[in-house]
Amino acid sequence: MSAAEASEAAVHTGRCLCGAVRFEARGELRPVIYCHCESCRRQSGHFFACTSVTDDRLTVFDEGGTLAWFSATPAAERGFCRTCGSALFWKPAEGARISIEAGSFDEPSGLVASHHIFVGEKGSYYEITDGLPQFVGDDE
Ligand SMILES: [Zn+2]
Ligand SMILES: [Zn+2]
Repeated sequence: MSAAEASEAAVHTGRCLCGAVRFEARGELRPVIYCHCESCRRQSGHFFACTSVTDDRLTVFDEGGTLAWFSATPAAERGFCRTCGSALFWKPAEGARISIEAGSFDEPSGLVASHHIFVGEKGSYYEITDGLPQFVGDDE
C-alpha cells in the first residue's frame, strides 16, 4: 500500500467526554483551523480547533440519541452531546463538509494546525504566539 493509499484508508476515531456519541472519520483529515469568532468563543468557553472532512467520510454513532444541534446563526449548526456538553461538530448550511473538534479525537490523532481565523473577535485575555498565519475574519 502506498503512502497515499494508506492515508485514504485511515480511520480516525473520537468521542464526547461521556462516550455516548462516538464517530469515525475516514481518509485524510484537513489541517486544524483555530476559530476565535464570538460564537465559537461562547460555545467552547475559549476558541474552536477543528479539522474537517466531507460528509461521506464521517459516521456518527449516537445510539442513546444524545447528539443535539444548535444554530447560533442560520449559517451553521453546532453538534454537541446533551449529556456531557462536549462540542463535537460544526456543520455549515451550505457545502458537503463537516468540521470536527480536534480535541474529541482519540490520540495519537496525527492532526496538525494550519492557521487562525476570526482573530478580530478573539478574547482579550490571551495572545496568539504560535507563529501560524492569522486572519482577521474568514480565510477566504
Ligand atoms: Zn457525551
Ligand atoms: Zn468560529
